[in-house]
Amino acid sequence: MSDVKTKHGDKIEIGAVSEHLLEKYNLPGPRYTSYPTAPVWKDDFGPDDLEESYTRAEALATPLSLYMHLPFCESLCLFCACNVSIQKDKSVAIPYLAALKHEIEHVSGLVSKQRPVIQFHWGGGTPTFLTPAQMEDLFGHARERFAFAPDAEIGIEVDPRVTSRAHLESLRRLGFNRLSMGIQDFQPKVQETIRRVQPYEMTRDLILASRELGFESLSVDLIYGLPYQNAATFQATIEQVLTLTPDRVAMFSYAHVPWLRKQQGAFATHLPEGREKFQIFRAGLEGFLGAGYVYIGMDHFALPEDELATAQQDRTLHRNFMGYTTKAGADLYGMGVSAISSVGDAYAQNRREVPAYQAAVAERGIATMRGYRLSADARLRRSVIGRLLCHTVIVKREVEQEFSISFDEYFASELARLAEPSTDGLVILDRDEVRVTPLGRIFIRNVAMVFDRYIEEQKMDQKPLFSKTL
Ligand code: SF4
Repeated sequence: MSDVKTKHGDKIEIGAVSEHLLEKYNLPGPRYTSYPTAPVWKDDFGPDDLEESYTRAEALATPLSLYMHLPFCESLCLFCACNVSIQKDKSVAIPYLAALKHEIEHVSGLVSKQRPVIQFHWGGGTPTFLTPAQMEDLFGHARERFAFAPDAEIGIEVDPRVTSRAHLESLRRLGFNRLSMGIQDFQPKVQETIRRVQPYEMTRDLILASRELGFESLSVDLIYGLPYQNAATFQATIEQVLTLTPDRVAMFSYAHVPWLRKQQGAFATHLPEGREKFQIFRAGLEGFLGAGYVYIGMDHFALPEDELATAQQDRTLHRNFMGYTTKAGADLYGMGVSAISSVGDAYAQNRREVPAYQAAVAERGIATMRGYRLSADARLRRSVIGRLLCHTVIVKREVEQEFSISFDEYFASELARLAEPSTDGLVILDRDEVRVTPLGRIFIRNVAMVFDRYIEEQKMDQKPLFSKTL
């Protein structure tokens, strides 16, 4: 099997992935959109703790990234692991939007207008479950209360099955400049099985309309490892996606966790696994790199001129709950049901059920249900894991300067545990660096897991909380 060359001349050594390596390293593991990961967070972290973090953040005056969660969908896609509320009745949005506006009011009252919003994102669920008028009202409410930077990234997740041209026109008028869109797979058999029928033509037409309306950036999501997929069918999907020339592609491994998401059990016997799933991943990797996309981190691709690709090259790439971003250094304020915040040294998550969220906001203005304040050790490990996942290298001197430690002494046991991945060709350990090899990029989550001090506690081999790394 051959390797794949990336845009910048380095190789992804996909041909070197043996059965032995797959068996050894294809294990459940976090995607590290946070460290520590959410299962470690504490239930005794509440609204007062989050507000204390807001106060500290004010003193530092960092820029803001705002995320708002809109949880409603008209029907449930069976693969979905997001926090969703399936509703046919659109009137449910009315009390929810009232609560969300109340939360925006409360949070914005604690934020100085000197702090620019450099990133604003609506995720879901399906944000376009709302009518254009509801979207305009909600956006206007937020915009009046926060100071948006003139060049802010303003993005939204859209579902082509329920997004009209009127929605797009309204979003564009409001100033949204980025769209992200779920595709997952274009094969009819796969789409029927996962109950998300979204033909190519429907997706193409929405993308053409968004280009015509002047959205600057378009990102699409794909999933490999879905029922009835194989390398050939996924390759056909990739070829169709390439005709749409998205600026960015997220290609996620399907997370099969039916003990957490019961509906996934419906197709459990038709899932590609092991080498077969790996070949699907490989088809995706070869398809996008062959078409000139740059491989970003562990699961994204971007056109070479996209700022995500430039950020990877300049080592300014950053990872947060929304995936890879160029907005390092911003505090993330999450609002809405189940939304996550990352403010200074703290993480916080809102209540996960809509009625509980609405009740908590009515009473207190915010709805924090759990969170985590990072210790000095957790801050250090977060930085090290972030460096690996964003830059594929840890330069020891940089970590030593930032955290006033001796890297080799502090991480002596981690370095000893990396000896085996090093022998297997996944990392190069030398005096100055821990560097992930082109082969190691395929198993980069496994390398990151070595630095996670909580991983053993999460009983990874029973009913894992995470998907497999491939
Ligand atoms: S539309 Fe998106 S959020 Fe809603 S069920 Fe489907 S995948 Fe999940």
